[in-house]
Amino acid sequence: MNDMLQTAQNTIIKTGKGMGLSQEVIDRLIQPDSIHEFVLQVQMDNGKKKLFSAFRIQHNDNLGPYKGGIRFHQNVSRDEVQALATLMTIKCAVAGLPYGGSKGGIIFNPKEYSEKELERISKEYARAISPIIGPEVDVPAPDVNTNGQIMKWMMDASKQPMATFTGKPVKYGGTLGRTAATGRGGVIILESLILKLKSQITNFKSQINSKSQTGALSVAVQGFGNVGYYFAKIAQERGFTIVAVSDSKGGISQVGAGRDLPVQIDSLDIKKIMECKKEKGEVAGCYCVGGVCDMSKGNKITNAELLELPVDILVPAALENVINKGNMYKIQAKIIIEMANGPISEEAYNYLTEKGVLIVPDVLANSGGVAVSYLEWYQNMKGQTWSEKKVNKKLHEMMHDAFEEIWRTYQKRKTSLKQAAFETAIGRIIKKR
Ligand code: NAD
Repeated sequence: MNDMLQTAQNTIIKTGKGMGLSQEVIDRLIQPDSIHEFVLQVQMDNGKKKLFSAFRIQHNDNLGPYKGGIRFHQNVSRDEVQALATLMTIKCAVAGLPYGGSKGGIIFNPKEYSEKELERISKEYARAISPIIGPEVDVPAPDVNTNGQIMKWMMDASKQPMATFTGKPVKYGGTLGRTAATGRGGVIILESLILKLKSQITNFKSQINSKSQTGALSVAVQGFGNVGYYFAKIAQERGFTIVAVSDSKGGISQVGAGRDLPVQIDSLDIKKIMECKKEKGEVAGCYCVGGVCDMSKGNKITNAELLELPVDILVPAALENVINKGNMYKIQAKIIIEMANGPISEEAYNYLTEKGVLIVPDVLANSGGVAVSYLEWYQNMKGQTWSEKKVNKKLHEMMHDAFEEIWRTYQKRKTSLKQAAFETAIGRIIKKR
């Protein structure tokens, strides 16, 4: 069994036992409702046919239609899809959505295929899953290496109504506000957390690194894609000091590896860094502060060094398992916001939690994306089109409510935020049975 599936199931078992649930109920929460496997036969540009293995796993629909993305990647496996489907059930319940959880995937590297081939593969997959999806049955969305264009191809080929797929381009029924939603949702959760900590000042002081206690809180963000960029940009707009950012090729930082943070420090200019990255092809070297980029300044750092900076808040927003037993002793941040899915291994999670690091789990921190997917589905079902302002306001309410509920459980049960999130989710799922 792969690590992610094992971790998801262990957390359900531990939480279920703590809640006094019977083995029968726990088993039902672990096992998916159905596992669909397909072999797709698709014509390539050279006229030959090629076979692709694909999945759609529907984990649990107690709270409503299954909801989950479709991933195109050479490392997709049945276990990985099952783990992600399980986490979608928990994430949707955490966010208070009337959805269950599912996930899909095709085992292949889309970067090795032409656009026409990608279209044919996407459409063949859509025809295969068409009998088991629908607006009130199972609602797919983009995930790793899939996007709005692919959702449009799938929507056309499946012959299903528009509300069957979310993450569509806006002109084909997608919603405004979806692109920034995951990052925006993460910042809403971070601000809610800081407000709670500030209301208990001793907690707050123990939860930040001492030098910055008088100034804005310092943040390092790993990953400068959809999630990392919008998280960093919106956090900067909200007054946080962004000290370091990175992409797959490395990063740029206000502070050198192994050094202390200066008392006074300006935030990196995230919008400017994005402009610079578009020009240069990478974040490393894009030292931009206050609207000006100066390639000769700042510190170039590696992704490993970024994770070990003495910042208040660390935001892994790229890959899974980046904080693990190899580097967990070197993590200095006192708050970690899991914006990527599963960025902290189980062992590192337990070690850091015991050390007093407050970790906001992925199922809460990055649920802004599926929350706005729900708003897209809702608009399609009702024949409405909302303004971006209305979508953002609704997202704010949903994230705030989700956080409040989990914080209440966290305080009452004196447990970790992850355990509290799973307990809240499982409570909602079994109540509906
Ligand atoms: P993306 O492809 O837009 O961006 C990924 C970023 O990570 C890129 O900047 C890339 O350069 C960087 N990266 C790749 N390898 C890296 C490495 N070794 N070290 C540091 N950076 C590296 O992807 P995304 O949509 O931003 O998703 C990021 C994470 O968030 C994934 O775990 C994804 O599952 C999760 N997530 C995304 C959404 C969403 O709405 N996009 C929602 C929930 C969870």
